[in-house]
Amino acid sequence: MLGPVILAASRSDKMRRFISAAPGTKQVVDRFIAGETVDQVVPVIQDAAGKGLEVTLDVVGEDITTPEQAAAARDAYLELIGRLKELGLGTRAEMSVKLSMFGQSLEGGHELALANVRPVVEAAAEIGTTVTLDAEDHTTLDSMFAIHEELRKDFPQTGCVIQSYLFRTEEDARRLAAAGSRVRLVKGAYKEPASVAYQDKAEIDKAYVRVLRILMQGEGYPMIGSHDPRLIAIGQELARQAGRKLDEYEFQMLYGIRSDEHVRLAAEGHRMRVYTAYGTDWYGYFMRRLAEKPANLLFFARSVVTK
Ligand code: FAD
Repeated sequence: MLGPVILAASRSDKMRRFISAAPGTKQVVDRFIAGETVDQVVPVIQDAAGKGLEVTLDVVGEDITTPEQAAAARDAYLELIGRLKELGLGTRAEMSVKLSMFGQSLEGGHELALANVRPVVEAAAEIGTTVTLDAEDHTTLDSMFAIHEELRKDFPQTGCVIQSYLFRTEEDARRLAAAGSRVRLVKGAYKEPASVAYQDKAEIDKAYVRVLRILMQGEGYPMIGSHDPRLIAIGQELARQAGRKLDEYEFQMLYGIRSDEHVRLAAEGHRMRVYTAYGTDWYGYFMRRLAEKPANLLFFARSVVTK
C-alpha cells in the first residue's frame, strides 16, 4: 500500500525539498548511498575488492531539465572513469547509467542521450570495463533499447536492464538473449499502470523466473539483480540446468542491502557485483529504496523524529 505513495512522492519537488532538508535524513541516506564524491567512493570500491566483490557504479541523478545538466552528468562519469584508470580499478568496476540523466526526456532527448552516453561507453572500454543502461519507467524503454542496440555496434559488451513486472519483458528477453549480450534482470522499481505491468508480487516473481529461464537458456550473459533469497536459489538452479559455469552469469545486489549475502555468494565462488550509488542528487534513488521496503520508511521516520 505504502510503496505506490512513496513512488508518487519520489516525483514531487515539494517532497524533495522537505525530505532533503529534514534532520536525520542523511543518516538513513548513508545506508544506500556510498558517498557524495569520487574520493568518497574509491575506498568503498577498494573495500569491496578486498572482499572479492565487483561493483557497478551509479552517479545518482535523473529527471534533469537542461542540456547543461546532461553534459555535467556525462562529465561526472568521465571523471569517475579517469579515477578508476589512475587507480587501476577498471577491471573491478563497471558503470550503470540512467539515460534520463543524460538528457533523454528533453527535447531531442533520444539523440542527446546517445551523444552524451557514447563518450562514457568509449572511455569505459578504453580502461577495459563496460556500461549497463538502467531501465527507468516504461515510457523510456523503446528509446533505451534503441540506444543500447546502437552502442552495441561499436561496444558489444554494453549491457541493459529488463524488468520482470512489465508484460513486454519476455519478448525483450528473447531478443536480447543472444551471444555477447549482457542483460540484468530486476523486478522493477517504478510506479507502473496495470495496462503495462503486473501489480501482484507473486505474478512479478513468476514472470522473473520465466524471463530468467529465457536468459539462462540463451547465449548471453545474465546478471541476476535481486535480493530475494527464493529467486537467488532458483537462479542458481536455472544456471545449473542450462549447464552454465560460475563465470557465465553473475549476481547483483544494491549497496547497503543484504550485505552479508553479497559476501556469502562471493565466498561460494559466484561473481557478485554490488550496485554502488554515490553523488549528491540522491533523492529519486533513495525514495525507490524506501518504497521497496516500507520498514525502511519507519526507520526513516524514527530518525527524523528523534533528531
Ligand atoms: P524484494 O522481494 O523486493 O526483496 C527481497 C528482500 O530483499 C526483502 O525481503 C528485503 O529483505 C530485501 N530488500 C529488497 N529491497 C530492499 C530495500 N530497499 N531495503 C531493504 N531491504 C530490501 N529497478 C529498475 O526498475 N531499474 C533498474 O535499472 C534497476 N537496477 C537494479 C540493479 C540491481 C543490482 C538491483 C539489485 C536492483 C535494481 N533495481 C532496478 C531495483 C529492482 O527493480 C527492485 O526494486 C529491487 O531489487 C527489490 O526487489 P528484489 O528483487 O530485491 O526483491
